[in-house]
Amino acid sequence: MDLNEYQAKELLARFDVPVPRGEVAASAAEAEQVASRLEGPVWVVKAQIRAGDRGRAGGVKLVRSPGEAGKAAAGLLDRILVTPQTGPAGMRVARVYVEQAVEVARELYLGVVVDRTLGRVMLMASTAGGTRIEEVAADAPERILRVHVDTDQALDEAQARELAAQLELEGAAAEAAVRLMRGACRAFAELDASLIEINPLALTGTGELVALDVKMSLDENALSRHPELDALRGHDGDDPRRLERERHGFNYVKLDGDIGCVVTGAGLALATMDMIKLVGGEPADFLDLPPTATRVQVAAAFRRVLEDADVRAVLVNAVGGGMTRCDIIADGLTTAAREVRVRVPVVVRFTGTSRDMGIMLLQNSRFAFVPAYDLEDAARKVVKAARGTS
Ligand code: GDP
Ligand code: MN
Repeated sequence: MDLNEYQAKELLARFDVPVPRGEVAASAAEAEQVASRLEGPVWVVKAQIRAGDRGRAGGVKLVRSPGEAGKAAAGLLDRILVTPQTGPAGMRVARVYVEQAVEVARELYLGVVVDRTLGRVMLMASTAGGTRIEEVAADAPERILRVHVDTDQALDEAQARELAAQLELEGAAAEAAVRLMRGACRAFAELDASLIEINPLALTGTGELVALDVKMSLDENALSRHPELDALRGHDGDDPRRLERERHGFNYVKLDGDIGCVVTGAGLALATMDMIKLVGGEPADFLDLPPTATRVQVAAAFRRVLEDADVRAVLVNAVGGGMTRCDIIADGLTTAAREVRVRVPVVVRFTGTSRDMGIMLLQNSRFAFVPAYDLEDAARKVVKAARGTS
């Protein structure tokens, strides 16, 4: 789950990372009030979307009076911002963050990420702050410093000191960098983050370090350990499709055809759609149930497909294996069938773990379904059913 900048800054500030003073605002008037409350003489008004590279898209404005802050906010609020990270559809700006501007002497980069090849947490730092780190990695990879960190231990102080020296920081600034780097690593572990990126990390004219921009992503699978962070879900700028997946635990994409699909796994869902097309049908959706889907989530997925008025027949394709069990899928189907009317024929193909148990559960329920032997058989049956000729 990506966080908004203001949320990420509030969290990082609790881990010894200095951030500018600022407040979030949802209207021009509010932005003006916030600016008046914060000391000037310069403020930054920043679009709060859950994607980076806003500066280049005009989403970050430096202003010189509270009135100008209000005007800048008016220009940003409700706008669709398109940055290289939002995709072509862009994201709507529902809030702005108004901050005291910081006088920047140097812009550094600091990132905490998971190094997937080593399976370890990695701290990255660079003197090439302010620009996209991907570009630095492409043009001057030697300018990115890397240190691996054990999440159950603090970042080694000597290593942090060494990094600070390589970032050409001295004296109090070097001490501040050590504190800040260790804080960021601690935040990464304690918050179950998957990414923390401070870019730019500003060195001010007076030798202080301030996180001017923070990007943070949290591991969605760990949110149950952080009820307080779970509440950040669903804030503006979230992709509704992703929210649905988080809430119900499945991926759903609406398509143009009339054959509803409920499938265990994304790859299998694609194969199922291909098979439907091969035998002359058109899928009404792509629906992928993860192996961890519960009975309730399977029921929600099935209801979702039945709700689609275009659907004239449904194909359930479940391959038991790993954590996926056909009896759980069957349990979910019959649960949904008790709650809503199943108005169309449903073809079910089960294979693998708990296949027999799954079929028995379906047979013992009052839910009428058409059994299929394999995927091709299932696809032929569902296409026929959708045409009303079965
Ligand atoms: P991003 O484009 O989404 O990464 O947004 P940033 O918050 O990083 O802002 C883009 C750029 O605006 C930064 O790289 C800075 O150069 C500049 N910027 C942001 N805040 C301040 C500030 O307080 N003072 C100054 N001088 N520049 C700022
Ligand atoms: Mn940035």
